[in-house]
Amino acid sequence: MLHKNRLFTPGPTPLLPAAQNAMAAFTAHHRTADFKALFQRVLADMKEFVGTKNDVLVLACSGTGVMEAAVSNLTSPHDSVLVLTAGKFGERWTGLGRAFGCRVEELAVPYGETFSLDEVGARLSFNTRAVFVQATESSTGVRHDIEGIAKLVRARSDETLLVVDAITGLGTTHLDVDGWGIDFIIGGSQKALMMPPGLAYCAVSERSWRSMEKTTSPRYYFDLRKERKSAAKGETAYTPATSLFAALGAALDFVRAMGKGDLSGGREALVNNAELCAAMTRAGAKQLGLKLYASSPAAALTAICAPEGIDSGKIVKQFREWFDAVVANGQGEMKGKIFRIAHIGYYDYLDTIGILGALEHVLARVTDKNVEYGAAVRAAQEVYARALGEKPQLVNA
Ligand SMILES: *Cc1c(COP(=O)(O)O)cnc(C)c1O
Repeated sequence: MLHKNRLFTPGPTPLLPAAQNAMAAFTAHHRTADFKALFQRVLADMKEFVGTKNDVLVLACSGTGVMEAAVSNLTSPHDSVLVLTAGKFGERWTGLGRAFGCRVEELAVPYGETFSLDEVGARLSFNTRAVFVQATESSTGVRHDIEGIAKLVRARSDETLLVVDAITGLGTTHLDVDGWGIDFIIGGSQKALMMPPGLAYCAVSERSWRSMEKTTSPRYYFDLRKERKSAAKGETAYTPATSLFAALGAALDFVRAMGKGDLSGGREALVNNAELCAAMTRAGAKQLGLKLYASSPAAALTAICAPEGIDSGKIVKQFREWFDAVVANGQGEMKGKIFRIAHIGYYDYLDTIGILGALEHVLARVTDKNVEYGAAVRAAQEVYARALGEKPQLVNA
């Protein structure tokens, strides 16, 4: 049969055709009125996309670049910081904090799990400069309770900053950035914005800006104060990734259209879409007797345990060779044990039904157990029908 290449990876994600076209067509120089108009429109729209009144900055780098900017702008050497880690991306916070000479305290929980709020509260102290966490830990598929963590941080001290890597969280998870008091939240273009890698963004609270005046870690390209000053004039400090800005404009228009002209409504619709694709996928996987890896699963992606005695790499390989579908293996110690199917951004009902149908075939090939064709698809259909308020049509009922 004909094969279409499809990504089901938690970044990069499938590209929005309108974003690709906008990129290909864009030629303006960055110090022109045309670019300035695009830049200002995109920055204003990005606030709606994130759901914040705080400044939003968009930088030319991958997500980790802005994670580094958070550490270099918000901390000084020897500052005490608390990293909440439950996976490979949590560990990245620890590495970054140490690279900038912070005294890193870690609250680490096993892969696949999330933090108890009691423990988080116990680890916060009055001299904690910043708390670093993921909204959704893409290596394990876990959703962390950012609202709960934010309440604890805000109740503890007015000086402690809450920094959230929401690189796969934004656009897949309801996050009330201003209401909960998130000081610094980070996203990336190759996730829910349906674009190629190359841009990363952050929303920065007034508390963060104040604290940046006092911090002494080295920074130059990622000096966010410089970017803020330039942005106020409708410019970037250095050459922006102009064609990616054009793609971002088109992606934001697409999200606005999802909200029937209202961008924040579109953001909510995009989140609900990811939630529904994820719920369908979880139901399908469970119906096939597979175990979910995450104790509190995110809508960004579904991490599924390979059946006992089977290397998940075999499953990933079958998806690719048989269907040209790219699902992600586990990272680090999780490699060979789990596989991950993403729902971030440009996925719909048909993608979700399709990947579950393929999963049935892949499973039948890699195990010696009988797979009931249609079982995963049926479970997903029922979740979908229920979400739409339609009556589930039970087979043989
Ligand atoms: C993708 C991702 C990142 C950023 O990775 P880059 O490769 O630097 O873009 C960071 N955190 C999480 C949770 C991610 O999913």
